[in-house]
Amino acid sequence: MLEIKNLTKKFGTKTVIDDLSMTVKDNEIMAIVGPSGAGKTTLLRCITGLEHVNSGEFFWNGTKFDPAETDQKNTIIGVVFQDYQLFPNLTVMGNITLAPTLVKKEPLSKVTTDARELLKRLGLEGKESLYPYQLSGGQKQRVAIVRALAMSPKILCYDEPTSALDPALRDEVAEIILSLKKQEMTQIVVTHDMDFAQNVADEIKRVEQID
Ligand code: ATP
Repeated sequence: MLEIKNLTKKFGTKTVIDDLSMTVKDNEIMAIVGPSGAGKTTLLRCITGLEHVNSGEFFWNGTKFDPAETDQKNTIIGVVFQDYQLFPNLTVMGNITLAPTLVKKEPLSKVTTDARELLKRLGLEGKESLYPYQLSGGQKQRVAIVRALAMSPKILCYDEPTSALDPALRDEVAEIILSLKKQEMTQIVVTHDMDFAQNVADEIKRVEQID
């Protein structure tokens, strides 16, 4: 279970998140929705440690942690970015194996075997040697999901996973997220797509713009 307590985030004097507390239960899909500019992406960036918070605490199963601490042995939060942010000069396999070998210091042979299994699970068998520019948008997104999963996170976060995709691919992402839930992955999805949120999420957290 992820608990966020009294999170406040300001940019200069502008408060974007004001004393927000929320809980994400194990194996739950939480959608974060709200109007444009309300702070959804900022909230996700705080949860994934990409923004420093002004105040607030994070707990995983009751133990306090700092999402901005990158040198963790056990990754708690994984993230799939809106624009995927794959390394253009690395193959699919290179993209997936980089962080587990570099950050977690896992042996390449193990990481490669695990990556092959994950690629197969997400229908990307045979794409190991391709570069990002050789992939479709949907394939890039699945590689980004595999790359995040390769760090064995406890929670996987997505920023607007459907926004760049046509309707058929949107259903595919929903299926992937639901299949990961079956494999007991806890997931947080920032989205402005209410249909997607209502069809996929167990809980919907609405954030509102602060005046
Ligand atoms: P959208 O649905 O349009 O993506 P959002 O709900 O995700 O919006 P955020 O991108 O989190 O909203 O932005 C929330 C507010 O914080 C906005 O007013 C934005 O201008 C401001 N903001 C975001 N990042 C920064 C930054 N790095 N510096 C200053 N202000 C920022």
